[in-house]
Amino acid sequence: MSYYYLYPFFKTFFDNIGVELVLSQETTKTILNKMDFCPTDEPCVAVKLLFAHAKDLLDRGIERVLVPCLVSLEPRNFCCPKFIGIPYMLKNALQGTAEVIIPKIDRYRGRKEWQHSFLTIGSSFGASHKQIIEALQKADQAQREFERLCVKQRLTTPEAYRLLQNRPVNSPHRTTANGGPVVGVIGHPYILYDNFCLDLLAHFREYGQVITAEMVPSAAARREVATLLEGERLWSFEAQILGAALHLLRHRKVDKLALLGSFECGPESIIEKYMEEEAERQGIPFLLLTVDEHTGEAGLVTRIEAFMDVQAIVPDNIQTHHRDHISNDTAQANFLPGSREEEFVIGMPGMGHLDVAIRSALAECGVKTIKTPHASKEILELGRVLAPEFVCLPFTITLGQMRWLLENGANKILMVGGKGKCRLGWYAQIQEQLLRRLGYDFEMIIIDSPLPLKERWAQFRSTLKHTTRQSSWLNILKALYFGYHKMAAIDRAERLVHRIRAFEEKRGTIDRYFNQFIRKIERASSTASVWKLWEDFQEQAAAIPTIDTDPVRVRIVGEIWVVLEAYVNLHLEEMLGKSTDPRVWVDREISATNWFHQHLFPTKEAMQRKEAINRASKPYLETDVGGHGHISVGLTALAKEEGIDGVIHLMPFTCMPEIVAQNILVQLSNKLDIPVLTFIITDQTGEAGFETRVEAFLDILKERRFTTHTH
Ligand code: SF4
Repeated sequence: MSYYYLYPFFKTFFDNIGVELVLSQETTKTILNKMDFCPTDEPCVAVKLLFAHAKDLLDRGIERVLVPCLVSLEPRNFCCPKFIGIPYMLKNALQGTAEVIIPKIDRYRGRKEWQHSFLTIGSSFGASHKQIIEALQKADQAQREFERLCVKQRLTTPEAYRLLQNRPVNSPHRTTANGGPVVGVIGHPYILYDNFCLDLLAHFREYGQVITAEMVPSAAARREVATLLEGERLWSFEAQILGAALHLLRHRKVDKLALLGSFECGPESIIEKYMEEEAERQGIPFLLLTVDEHTGEAGLVTRIEAFMDVQAIVPDNIQTHHRDHISNDTAQANFLPGSREEEFVIGMPGMGHLDVAIRSALAECGVKTIKTPHASKEILELGRVLAPEFVCLPFTITLGQMRWLLENGANKILMVGGKGKCRLGWYAQIQEQLLRRLGYDFEMIIIDSPLPLKERWAQFRSTLKHTTRQSSWLNILKALYFGYHKMAAIDRAERLVHRIRAFEEKRGTIDRYFNQFIRKIERASSTASVWKLWEDFQEQAAAIPTIDTDPVRVRIVGEIWVVLEAYVNLHLEEMLGKSTDPRVWVDREISATNWFHQHLFPTKEAMQRKEAINRASKPYLETDVGGHGHISVGLTALAKEEGIDGVIHLMPFTCMPEIVAQNILVQLSNKLDIPVLTFIITDQTGEAGFETRVEAFLDILKERRFTTHTH
C-alpha cells in the first residue's frame, strides 16, 4: 500500500531522525500464505497483502511496524477509507503483540494538524522538535524528487526507487520494443508492481512502450480530472490514476489503455467508467483487468494478447472534452419517456421511508413527484445491467429505481451528492453518465450538504430553489418543516414497533398497525395531523395484549442504506421480531432523523450521543473512515454496557468503511465479549442461508443469557 506511493517520504523522514526502516521482503508464496492473518477475507488484495507482509516482519522478530494512516494528501480530497483504516485494523489484529507506529497525514485540515503525529513519533525516538521539522521538509523534497524522476525519465515506481538507491534500474523489457504500439498501463502501483501481480507490465512491454500513471506529471493529471464535476475531490491516488488515463487518451499519447485493478476495489468502480467512456470517445482500445491473489497468469496473458491484437477505431468526429462532458454533450438519444421539458416531474431513489417525507415536502411546493418504487428483483435487474462490477449495492439499486422512475414519467431525478471518503458522493454523476449512455434524456438534480455554509450555501440554495420551482422561502421552510415531521414520526413509530414486536401476544399485530400508519402518514396533509396519527398509533400499540417475557436485545449497526432498506436486508427486523424463542427486542438507532440531527440540524441529545459513540470507537478506530464505519465500531463497543446481548452488522459487498469496521469488530467482539454477526449483502444474498445464520446467532444469545442467569 503506502510503500508504493510514499516510501521516499517515510524513508527520508526516519533516516533524518536516526531510525532505520527495515522493509518486508518482496511478496513470495510464503508471504501469500500469510494473507490469512487478515481477520476476514473481505478486504481487497492490497489490504490482505499488507497483513501478510506485517506477519512476515513479526515472524522475523520485528517488534514495531510502521503503517501510516493516510487520510488526505491534498486539501480538497481524501484517500480510500482502507488507507485510513488499515493501521487500526492491523493494530486490533495484533492485540498488543507488537507496536504499530501510525504517522497520520491529514492535509484536509491544514498543515499544522497533520505534523502532530510525526512530532510525537519523532520525539519517542529521541529526536528534537527542530530535527523532526527538518526531517519532514527533507522528506517532502525527496518525495517530489522521486515524482520528478518518474516523469522525467519515464520510470516506474520500482525503477525510480532503485535509481534513488543507486542500484541499476534493471528492467529488461524497458527499452526493447521501441517502434511497437504505445500502451498506457494504469493502476495502483501496489497492484502493478507487486509480485502477486505476475509482472504483467513485462508482458505489455513485449509489445511496445508502456506509460504508467506515475510517468504523467501530476499537474497534467489534475487538469484532466478538474474537467469532471468536483473532480478535485476525487480520492488522492485515484485522481492521479484517472487524470493520467484521461491525459493519455485525450492527447492521444497512447494507442491502447489498460486498467489493472484489484477485485473489490471501491474507488476503481467509480473511475473505470470515466476511462471506458473517454477511450470509446477517442476510439482507443481499453482493457479492464481485475486481479487478486488467486488470479492465474495464463488467463491474463491470453487477454493481453487478444487486447494487443485489437485495432484502434479512430472516430471521424473525435470530440475534445468539455467540463463534465457527460452533461454537456448528451447523447442524441432517441426520445424515451421522461423528457417533456414543459413538465417538471421529480423522482428520487429511496432509503427506508425517507421518500415519503421528501415527496410530501415537494408537494407542499407544488412540485409533481413519482412515488419511489421499493427495491425489488425487477429494480435490481434494471440497475445491475448498467452498474460497474464492484460498485456497492446501494448504487446498483438506486440506479434501478432511477430507470424505473424515468420510464414511469419522471424527467428529473433528485439524488444526494457530497464528496466524502466513501463512494456515495460519486453516485449521482456516474449514474447520470450510465443512464445518458442508454439514451435517457432527463435532468439529474444533485443536492449536497449546505455545510460548511461559507463554501456550500450558495450551491445548496440554488439547488433547493430549482427543485421547488423557485418557491418562496416561506413556502420552502414550511414544506421542509412538514417533511421533517413526517420523517420523525415514522422513525419514532419504528422504534415503538421494535419494542412491541418483542412482547406482543399475537405476532404481527404491531406490523399491521405500522403499515396502516405509514399509508396514513403518506396522505397526511398537515403537521398537526401527522402528530395526531402518531398519538393514535401509540394508543393502538399500548392496547396490544403483551406477554411477560425477557427478550434478548439485538443491536443493528452498519451502512445506513442497507440497514434502512428492508428488502435489501431481507426484512431482518421483521425476521428478528417474529422470533418466538428467544423473543427479540431490536435496538436500531441509525435512522434518517438521527442522521439529520447529528449532521445538519444538531440537537443537544443527538450530539451528545454522537460524541459518546465517537469516544467509544476511538480505542479501536482512531480516525473516521467515512460512511458509518466508526459508528459501527462505537455502537458495538457500547453494546454490552448498554444491555445489548448481540450485534448484527450489515454492510453492502465491497463497502469500504464497513470492511474496515468488520475487521476491527472481529477482535472487539472477543475483547468485550459481545457476539457480533456480520452480513455482507450482495444481490445474490439468499434468504435461507441468511435466516439460518440469524437463528443460530439467536440461539447463542439465548444460551448466553441462560448461562448468565444460572451462574
Ligand atoms: S479498495 Fe482499492 S484503493 Fe482502496 S486499498 Fe483496496 S485496492 Fe486500494
